[in-house]
Amino acid sequence: MKNSSSAKTHIVMLPFMARGHMIPFLALAKQIAERTHFTITIVSTPLNIQQLRSTASPSSTITFAELPFCSLDHGLPTNSENTDSLPSSHITTLFIASQTLEPSFHRLISDMFQQEGRTPLCIISDVFMSWAVNVARSFETPHFTFTTGGAFGTAAYFSILLNLPHRNTTSDEFSVPGFPETCRFHLSQLNPSLRAVDGTGLVVRLNQKQFSLFLGSNGMLCNTVEEIEPMGLDALRKNTGLPVWTIGPFLPLSLLNRSSSSSSSPLDESFSRSGKEPGIAVGNCFNWLDSHPPNSVLYISFGSQNTISSTQMMELAMGLELSGKPFIWVVRHPIGFDIKAEFRAEWLPEGFEERVRKRNQGMVVHRWAPQLEILSHGSTGAFLSHCGWNSVLESLSQGVPIIGWPIAAEQAYNSKMMEEEMGVCVVLTRGVESWVGREEVERVVKMVMSKEGKGEEMKRKAMQIAEKIRDSVREDGNQKGSSLKALDGFLETVVLSRESLTD
Ligand code: UDP
Repeated sequence: MKNSSSAKTHIVMLPFMARGHMIPFLALAKQIAERTHFTITIVSTPLNIQQLRSTASPSSTITFAELPFCSLDHGLPTNSENTDSLPSSHITTLFIASQTLEPSFHRLISDMFQQEGRTPLCIISDVFMSWAVNVARSFETPHFTFTTGGAFGTAAYFSILLNLPHRNTTSDEFSVPGFPETCRFHLSQLNPSLRAVDGTGLVVRLNQKQFSLFLGSNGMLCNTVEEIEPMGLDALRKNTGLPVWTIGPFLPLSLLNRSSSSSSSPLDESFSRSGKEPGIAVGNCFNWLDSHPPNSVLYISFGSQNTISSTQMMELAMGLELSGKPFIWVVRHPIGFDIKAEFRAEWLPEGFEERVRKRNQGMVVHRWAPQLEILSHGSTGAFLSHCGWNSVLESLSQGVPIIGWPIAAEQAYNSKMMEEEMGVCVVLTRGVESWVGREEVERVVKMVMSKEGKGEEMKRKAMQIAEKIRDSVREDGNQKGSSLKALDGFLETVVLSRESLTD
């Protein structure tokens, strides 16, 4: 794709204001920059741009543009511009605030037009920023939607939101348009706002609007691999009627090229990806992991913004102790505590941290861990995860099976797909209202970490998925993996769409 005629063409990218969305957007921008001469500009609010800039390498050709934003004007706390600086009660407010950016984004594109004498080659926006379709249309510029989620999760979220199939039945189980009849969904997999829907709820209406708008896109980019979730891809293509390019996973190549049994030097990629200071040095983490046998450690994290109740935190802690399995647990504030609160010993059973440290059974990390490095270490055997899509790809790319504890967004659909279609996950519990006791935690942890039976089968299947993920980004002369082919195919389509508009 690199040629001089593309030198002055511009791609504008607009992520949603959440770390789990900005990380893959920046990674996509880097990949396009490596494969073309296009100018790429990522647009967001000032604090998000500051964070993105700090994680882009100094030699990067990617540029950034700010949209004015004052969180206080929207009823948000001072300096709150993304989800990981906000309690879950404020996420809807941020979502509403993100939609007010349309006029300033329109101005930005108009200024670009004046300065460059042409409109951007295309606009790529997040599914949750689909109002950008209106802006693209007004400048007669192609628009593409990038879903940072997987195909199954996005397709299920989309279809349930727009069709509300659970309202047409009195049963707890229901089928979803676009998915096979045999793929039954359960009410407990829906977020509370969707479960209680009567067609008037604000959150549901706002999401419905954004998801309807992206149907006006020229196509969709999906952060997944063609070979790993065929059912979801089929449903996504059927339900949207859009071309879908599967261009994931956006993970550091150093991670994808490593052998999963390796326990050598730390990668130190987490910091450069997220810009967040880990609560523990990567080297210390590796030393601790090195002291345990291969595939023996359970890693536990609920991602960048979700958390569980304080009573569930106690049960989880006691279940881990009962299991006797080694673990690294990223402990964040329980529900109801300030998101910025310092760690408090009372969140965990009395003496827990000290007991597990003395026995060399567990390592408690406060707030933020170097997740990529932990998952890529040969001693890590399973991941107890909220099933955010980045975490899913990071884990499966390393052949690490998952114990699912989905909490919000499309996480329950991700875990359903991994449990039923891939066979690499067991769901422990779902949502913040459900309950799981310590004995069940102990049983599931022991089962998944076992080298026999279900545990062995999950590990084997996870290794097969890892191979498919790695193959998708392999490049060997003219031989390219499916994700690289899809990315090149997408870039060719972008150029052709532009030419057809200017003919
Ligand atoms: N992450 C991390 N350390 C942590 C928690 C999260 O590095 O302690 C990273 C993780 O590797 C992933 C991202 O934050 O890349 C979380 O994204 P995901 O889609 O899994 O969940 P979200 O936070 O968006 O719910």
